[in-house]
Amino acid sequence: MAQITIVGDGPGGLSAALFLARSDNQVTVYGTDATVMNFAFLNNYLGVDAISGTDFQIAAKNQVINAGATLLDQEVTSVKAEGNAITVETASDVHSPDFLILGEGKQMPIAQSLGIQVAAGEDDVVPVDQNGRTSIENIYVIGRSARPTRSQAIISAGDGAAAALDILSKIEGRDVQDWDSPPKD
Ligand SMILES: Cc1cc2nc3c(=O)[nH]c(=O)nc-3n(C[C@H](O)[C@H](O)[C@H](O)COP(=O)(O)OP(=O)(O)OC[C@H]3O[C@@H](n4cnc5c(N)ncnc54)[C@H](O)[C@@H]3O)c2cc1C
Repeated sequence: MAQITIVGDGPGGLSAALFLARSDNQVTVYGTDATVMNFAFLNNYLGVDAISGTDFQIAAKNQVINAGATLLDQEVTSVKAEGNAITVETASDVHSPDFLILGEGKQMPIAQSLGIQVAAGEDDVVPVDQNGRTSIENIYVIGRSARPTRSQAIISAGDGAAAALDILSKIEGRDVQDWDSPPKD
């Protein structure tokens, strides 16, 4: 079982948490409900009727908790990456996860503190591959932090899902899909 820490409780972080928790890993999401989703009203999230961003967040958090993730109403104060060791610090805890997903939103002080290179010519864009991998092993950046000019809830959620499947594939050593079928009568 891998220990995976997610910084950020917006749609990106919560989507990653859902996929990872469904696979029986130890998943902890840090966030204080300061997401801009609380200012949004969604008419453009495929498959979901018009809903306030706050109601969306409540439903998403319940789904993630029911899948087995732990949500902590805390801020991550610092992250260090030395060799293969990742160290995450809050006001009350220090731990070393196997994987770290940063879904910090528009401001990304932790990604910047790690020295993740900012793309030339684009202020505050963290270069990642299509699964959110950064230049630091086992650290991912997703959602608005990775693509500030394409900030939509469904895009952040997709980024979180892609990073989660990449981590699961690394853990399993093979490509992993999370596919369910309807229960048979
Ligand atoms: C006014 C407004 C209206 C919008 N309307 C729409 C809309 O109609 N449809 C749509 O699709 N999108 C809309 N959006 C955009 C949408 O809200 C964003 O695309 C989405 O919230 C991005 O999700 P995210 O997970 O990438 O980042 P965020 O939602 O920004 O989440 C990041 C979270 O990480 C937390 N965090 C950061 N650092 C730390 C730390 N160190 N420790 C713990 N937590 C941390 C932040 O507090 C925040 O809660 C709107 C945005 C605004 C501002």
